[in-house]
Amino acid sequence: MMTAALPFWASARLPDLGAAEPALTILLRPETDEAHRVIGMAVEERIAMAGQPQRLTLTAPVQFVGMVPVGSVVSDFTIADAGGKVSTSVSEVASTAGPVRRWTSVRDLVGEVTVRYRLPLTPFAQGGPPYGMKAAGLGVAGNSGSVLILPELAGLRRSTLRWDLSHMVAGSSGVIAGGTDTLIAEGAPEALIDRWLMAGPLQAGQKPSGNRFNAYTLGAPPFDATAMMAWSRRVYTLLADTFGYLGTPPYLLAIRALDAPSFATGTASVANSASLITVGSPTYLPGQDVQRVKGTIAHEMTHNWVGQFGDRPAPWFNEGLTVYVSATLPCEAGLRDWRDCANEIGKWARDYYGSEARNWTMKRIEATPFAREDVRRVPYGRGMMYFANLDAQIRAASDGRRTLLTALRPLFEERRTGQPLTMQRWEAWLERERGLKAITSFRETVLEGGMIVPAPNAFGDRLRVRPTRWTNGNQTFDGYEWHVL
Ligand SMILES: [Zn+2]
Repeated sequence: MMTAALPFWASARLPDLGAAEPALTILLRPETDEAHRVIGMAVEERIAMAGQPQRLTLTAPVQFVGMVPVGSVVSDFTIADAGGKVSTSVSEVASTAGPVRRWTSVRDLVGEVTVRYRLPLTPFAQGGPPYGMKAAGLGVAGNSGSVLILPELAGLRRSTLRWDLSHMVAGSSGVIAGGTDTLIAEGAPEALIDRWLMAGPLQAGQKPSGNRFNAYTLGAPPFDATAMMAWSRRVYTLLADTFGYLGTPPYLLAIRALDAPSFATGTASVANSASLITVGSPTYLPGQDVQRVKGTIAHEMTHNWVGQFGDRPAPWFNEGLTVYVSATLPCEAGLRDWRDCANEIGKWARDYYGSEARNWTMKRIEATPFAREDVRRVPYGRGMMYFANLDAQIRAASDGRRTLLTALRPLFEERRTGQPLTMQRWEAWLERERGLKAITSFRETVLEGGMIVPAPNAFGDRLRVRPTRWTNGNQTFDGYEWHVL
């Protein structure tokens, strides 16, 4: 259908300060040195104020997720409207997520407002999850939460986040989790937070961009990036087919190789179908284990389908099921060698059987500080062992027609239609699948810390379990390891 063209004056919109909705557009401009290396971020926010003149307040956490300085390291912060620059008063307030810095204009603002500020990059040496924006090759990558200062503006329901690559090396491009090089978020501007960002001379795993699965690598990784991204795509397809319930969701896999020693670590952003993998460039950390990188990528992507249990952390499920699936499924499908899966399963099992917290209740483990990584890792291995046994039982009871994942599918489908996966729904499912006794044994082992003994064919017919013993200091732990038949 065609519509008659209107004369230009009929379609032009006159400024109507009282009726327009407020809008926010944020431009992220990586700043570079003479060698084209990224040294900081310049941010420009264009805010269309609606309605009457008013004071404008913007806020940022002093430290994003308690680890990346934001509010405390902002420089060159300016606010201006048509009337010129305006100074701000700065204060710090407490919040449940930690202290928050607030900038408030000292006079009322109206119409188009521009906010500008700069932030330094996060140093390579900072450990933990990869939230900080770090340089990688001639680009930069990290989490949007570590660069955004957001306006508190009633009625703001649509925000845009965009890259400005004008200062970057020629041939650069940018990606944002949940979008392509631009993200338009409906709802409050906080929807822009917790998005993986990456810009620079990106190596794309696919052409053109805008596929369901998109992978990009930045910097010089210790592996063939093309092959790794092609492998990751096959894992994506495998997960989408095996879980089934999400169809083929959009997914962004961002791999950043730092010019610094860094082992493969990854963090998934479940709500935004994306993960960021960090590795070190081979110059700085030679001999990095490609198998470990594959394990990390499979793990982070699996999180997207396992999703969340209930509304609070349940690591026995969120991590345990993720570990179980990512350490077995790629081998079952021929995407990894069973020897690599045996090694990985053995590593997670050792984190469980070899820990002083092996018998601790889940409550006690969850109340332990994150710094006690040896304790915090126990639910990964405990959950993996639990789900491996459960899978073996479900396969045996159905003569191999059903697996743990086919049995779980109705729970995932229900969660997708808005019914959260609560402990009550979980145990009701367990009773339907395996009877009342299964609830008792779930509580005794996973929740209360009773030891889990692996079934001989847990992890399938290709692997066999054998007992082993480790010493840790002057303590000895009995556990298990797996070998390929
Ligand atoms: Zn995980």
